[in-house]
Order: sequence, then structure tokens, then C-alpha cells
Amino acid sequence: MIFAACDLGGTNTRAALIDETGRILSRVSQSTLQSSADALIDSVIRLITAIATEDCPGLAALDGIAVAVAGTVDSISGTVVTSPNLPFADTPLRDRLSAAFGRPVIIENDALAAALGEARFGAGRGAGDVVMLAIGTGIGGGIVVDGRPYRGTAGGAGEIGHMVIDPAGPLCACGRHGCLEAMAAGPAIAARARAAVKKTTDTAILEIAGEDIAAITAETVGRAAAAGDPLAQGILEAVAEIIGVGAANIANLLNPAVIILGGGVMTGDKIILETARRVVRDTALAPNRDASIVAAALGGDAGLLGAASLCLK
Ligand SMILES: [Zn+2]
Repeated sequence: MIFAACDLGGTNTRAALIDETGRILSRVSQSTLQSSADALIDSVIRLITAIATEDCPGLAALDGIAVAVAGTVDSISGTVVTSPNLPFADTPLRDRLSAAFGRPVIIENDALAAALGEARFGAGRGAGDVVMLAIGTGIGGGIVVDGRPYRGTAGGAGEIGHMVIDPAGPLCACGRHGCLEAMAAGPAIAARARAAVKKTTDTAILEIAGEDIAAITAETVGRAAAAGDPLAQGILEAVAEIIGVGAANIANLLNPAVIILGGGVMTGDKIILETARRVVRDTALAPNRDASIVAAALGGDAGLLGAASLCLK
């Protein structure tokens, strides 16, 4: 079987042909068009058509088409209700694509698609109940229950990044204070590092950032920590304690077999994974503390593979 999957993100639009074992047969990527919903939908149609006609016997030979999209998806109506990074608002994406291709098309939220991809083909393979956190500029989440996506009543489930950890904490983009995302995503890590280097210059963070405090990012901190810098390691440990609290909350709420930590902040990181694992083991209730806390295995392909997996159903 061959499926066409598309991952429609705020920055890049990617498409791939994927077989039923999760093998990517070919792929193509381009910058996401932001001018209008119509232009963006047309670009998705062109991208999928191109990959299916160049690398496959054609659209008619495909066994399914699925699109993961960075926005809230109403799976009943097939609309993208809202999106922070795409020009969609109550956009009937599924029907527009189905009409263009003359066949059913599946659409799904990208974070949930990534969780499904990891659950089926990646770090959660073999486990039915899986929760994934994607820690990057924000913290996205996806919940898989008994192998199936958990969307909630209107497609809004899985907003794990907006779980409040500290009501007296920093203001979040959602308007509340102390959300997991506001305390532990990439910008929070960078903010901690910028504050810390004002008190001491004895750290590799500044050197890696070219002696420019404003240039410090979460990646800078990660690189310094990997090089053995104690200040950077301490920052990641402090943030990981917070991520661990969030993971323990998830464990107590859902008792998943596996909690997957992914996203750009986790790339190459061991400190966050090990610290979060310890916090869950020490603080979640039995038997919830037995959840495996693991690193994502599929990287940026999780959304594509999760979208393809929806065609298998
Ligand atoms: Zn929030």
C-alpha cells in the first residue's frame, strides 16, 4: 500500500509517499504559503499531486491521502477551526482537498498526528496508551488511547502545554500564568539563561552565543550543557523538574504506558529525559509512576507518519 501524507506547518509544508510499514518512499518540502487560505490549499494540492505523479503511478494508485495541519481540527466537519500560524479560520480543508482529488481525504491536528506516528511506528510502538509532548517554541501535545487519537468533544484535547504548573508563574500566550509552555518551552529556557549569564560570565553559554546575551537560545543552552557547562546543565535540570511535574500530572490523569518527549528542545538531550523520568517515578501515584518516559524516535517525520497511519484504519 502507498499513502500520500502532508504535514502543513507554520514554516514548512512537507509531503511524502509512505508505505504501510511506515517507510518513507519519497519526500518533498517547500516553504508554507501564508498569503491566503485558498493559495495555501492550492499549494498542498500541487505538492501532493506532484509527488504522486513523479514518484508513484499517480493519484489513482494511492491507497489514501492524509494531511496533518498546525491548527485545531474539527474531525466531524473536516474544518480547521483556528490556527495560530496558518491563514485558516473555519476553513473546510477536508472537503476542499477531497473535491480536488475526487476521493476521501483525512485531516488531523499535527501534534496529534505526531503522537500517532510515534505510537504506531516510533517510541511508543507496541503500547496502546501513549501521550506525546513536543517541546519547542511552545509545548504541543497529543493523546493516543488504545491506539486511537483522543480529540475531545470539539478537537481541542491535548493542550498539555497549557496545563498550569504555577499560578504565580510567568504570563503565557494563552493569557494564564505559569503554564507548562510558559515555564519550560524553548523561550523559557533561553530567558533563564539570559538572566543567569548577567550574574556570571563563567559559562560556555556566552561563548557559544558569540558573547551576545540576546543571541542565547534554548539550543545554545543545550550545546553548552552537552559540552559539560555546569550552569547550562543546571538550567536544563530546573526546566526538566517542571516538565517532570507536567509528565507526572499526565501520568496520574491518564495512566499511559508511555510518555514521549520530543520537539526541538529534546534533540540530543539526556538531562531533561532523565530528570523528568525521576520526577515521575518519585512523585506520581502507583501504578501511574511506572509510565515509561522516552525520547521521540521519529524526529520531524512523526507528523507525516501519523497522518499516513490514519489511512490504515
Ligand atoms: Zn497557556
